[in-house]
Amino acid sequence: MKALKDVKGIARTSLIILVVAIIAIAGIGIGTYIVMNPTATPTPAAFVCPTDGETFATKAELNQHLWTDTTPAHPKIPLTIWGWSGNEQILNRTAIETGFTTTYPNIELNPVAQAGTGAEYDLLTQAASSGSGAADLVGIEVDWGARFIPMDILLPLNQYGAMDYANKFPAWFWNSYVDNNTIYGIPWDASGAGALFYRSDVFDKYGLTVPTTMAEWKAVGQELKTKNSSWYLTFMPPDSSQIQFEMLIDSQGGPGIFRKNTDGTWVSNLDSAEALRALNFMEDLVDTGLAKAAPMWNDEMYAEMGDDVYASVLCAQWYTASLSAWLDRNTTHWKVAAFPQWTAGTPTSANRGGTSYCITTQSANPDAAWELLKWLFLSKNNARTLYQNCKYYPAYTELQTDPVVAIDDPYFGGQNVNAFIAANSMPYVNFHASPYSNLFNTYCNAMLQEVLLGTKSPEQGLTDAKANIDRDIAAGL
Ligand SMILES: [Zn+2]
Repeated sequence: MKALKDVKGIARTSLIILVVAIIAIAGIGIGTYIVMNPTATPTPAAFVCPTDGETFATKAELNQHLWTDTTPAHPKIPLTIWGWSGNEQILNRTAIETGFTTTYPNIELNPVAQAGTGAEYDLLTQAASSGSGAADLVGIEVDWGARFIPMDILLPLNQYGAMDYANKFPAWFWNSYVDNNTIYGIPWDASGAGALFYRSDVFDKYGLTVPTTMAEWKAVGQELKTKNSSWYLTFMPPDSSQIQFEMLIDSQGGPGIFRKNTDGTWVSNLDSAEALRALNFMEDLVDTGLAKAAPMWNDEMYAEMGDDVYASVLCAQWYTASLSAWLDRNTTHWKVAAFPQWTAGTPTSANRGGTSYCITTQSANPDAAWELLKWLFLSKNNARTLYQNCKYYPAYTELQTDPVVAIDDPYFGGQNVNAFIAANSMPYVNFHASPYSNLFNTYCNAMLQEVLLGTKSPEQGLTDAKANIDRDIAAGL
């Protein structure tokens, strides 16, 4: 780098000497020279380094200089990254391991942990309304993109040619961050595809057939109860049943949990046949004793997933990582089956989860932020390293069948879980983004607790939740 700079310095010095000599010989001022020779207007050096005065023909060249040149020392260019569950540290570590920080020694990554998705979204919402305080880079889950795009807090990425990468990702996932042909986020993980997790040892022991339909799934529970009444088919957690609820609605097709009116306004879709069918199915499993109403996120549940309690769980692909974290790798008998079909012979799935990273409109260094996004998520090799550092199922489609990702996983009895989900779930996801995931989560969580614990009928629960959600939408919340 030092040698290169010297060469450039010599060249520039030579050019200046030449121009001065020409002007001196002609004995005229440069203004006169230009008037006399209008086609010879010198190109203005529009991009100047404030540290050393070096000039560049393009902004891209100046950026390279600002990011890489260390002689003389240039100011550090800070990029703050918000994340949850250690996301920000995973990105930082991957950037270091793949050479980003040595390639761009003047870019300084500053990962900042948030207490969870809700904490990050609250901060981002506050920054949007106050006009300052947002990080340069923020993680946004796939069902939240449509909420933040209208707040003008996410930077349009078309200016960087981001739309050219659309075909690298599942269309439905990518499009969840698109508005008016403009992309606002680059996908990281697409681990939200729905699947059925089941205990292969229990199915073998009691001669159960892995179900392919919802009706068969329930029948498996009934058969298991007659053979050993201590087993549950599954759990329906009052603390987060909205996960299953949303997937059971979406997997039936249709617009999902919200629908958009022709005038562009939104309403809850909880008055649909799909919503009632989904909720009736959940309530029926609890009422018949096939599903236990138990919290999903506590130590007791984590332990129970390894004990003889639950034979199956309807969840998303990220649950593979959860099970891996909770249970002894050598004693698991969990395997993965396709999301049960509502109509036999019609494969289906739904999505709950997955994240893109976005640049905020408040970033002081958006070009450097884009360079990091491109480096981490749009290079297959770097995205592979990222996967190895977190095991979040990659949104980058080519990576989904990569030998590093699609492995016969000893943790799942040798099943190639990732390849299975790529083939049997991902292509059948029915997902529709809306700006109101927050309202669905809040009101359906409360409603499901009442319905699953028997204090409210499914019909009344849906009516009440829809009224609350539609009221808040109309109030602009
Ligand atoms: Zn400089």
